Amino acid sequence: MSILQGRHAIVTGSTSGIGEGIARALARAGASVTLNGLGDAGEIEALRAEMAAEHGVAVNYDPADMRRPEQVRAMVEKAAGEGGCDILVNNAGIQHTAPVEEFPADRWDAIMAINLSAVFHATAAAVPHMRRRGYGRIVNVASVHGLVASVDKAAYVAAKHGVVGLTKVVALETARDPITCNAICPGWVLTPLVQAQIEARAEKEKVDFDRAAGELLGEKQPSAAFVTPEQLGALVIFLCGAAADQLTGQALPMDGGWTAQ
Ligand code: NAD
Repeated sequence: MSILQGRHAIVTGSTSGIGEGIARALARAGASVTLNGLGDAGEIEALRAEMAAEHGVAVNYDPADMRRPEQVRAMVEKAAGEGGCDILVNNAGIQHTAPVEEFPADRWDAIMAINLSAVFHATAAAVPHMRRRGYGRIVNVASVHGLVASVDKAAYVAAKHGVVGLTKVVALETARDPITCNAICPGWVLTPLVQAQIEARAEKEKVDFDRAAGELLGEKQPSAAFVTPEQLGALVIFLCGAAADQLTGQALPMDGGWTAQ
């Protein structure tokens, strides 16, 4: 079903994990897509070509570095100039864990730049284009850590709470426009970002990967199962449809019950 035919979506950080899952869902729903993210040029081109062929939509790639505000804004302007910036999914993100007194200042700066400031720059650039086109959907991939905290994640939790706050402000400022702005707040999703945390835990506790993954889930996620990029993609498609016209300014957890505790 091509419910998003004629729409163009930008998904930041879509060369991997959750962003890739969301980009695939948007392409499947008929939207043309701008992919973005880091990685091997050959692998990114293979992903781009495969996604375009599988869903019969235009898929391009923009190498904008989310640490660079001018590149973030130029990515939005380019997409808007080439066909529209109807759907903006601010998903790119990184993680670093350490107690606050040991947290490296350069990791703090990088997490703030990618996980929070890039969301501001992309949104600021996209809103005028969305107003002109009479349709806009901004979906910020926050986290349960936009709603609650965990130890050793000072920068990540601060940035994700910031994303939830920014989401509410943008929703209010666009409330009378045909634009919505929401945050989605995943619990654990088994992507390279979390894989690294599980591997570190397995090494520290001298247990195998599956055991470490089970313990990680057991601590926080009552369902004891990972959320999947496909499930998050389906949530984004719902947010892009007419049924969600009045759903704005919300932080929507998909977390196996994590934040119900
Ligand atoms: P991932 O590491 O698989 O993907 C991150 C993406 O961001 C990649 O495409 C990477 O290339 C891109 N990226 C990183 N730095 C970049 C930069 N400077 N410029 C452009 N792109 C850059 O991780 P993921 O788990 O898929 O994370 C995606 C988002 O979901 C992040 O914002 C993360 O905080 C959030 N999230 C993840 C989980 C989880 O459990 N995996 C849970 C909640 C929220």
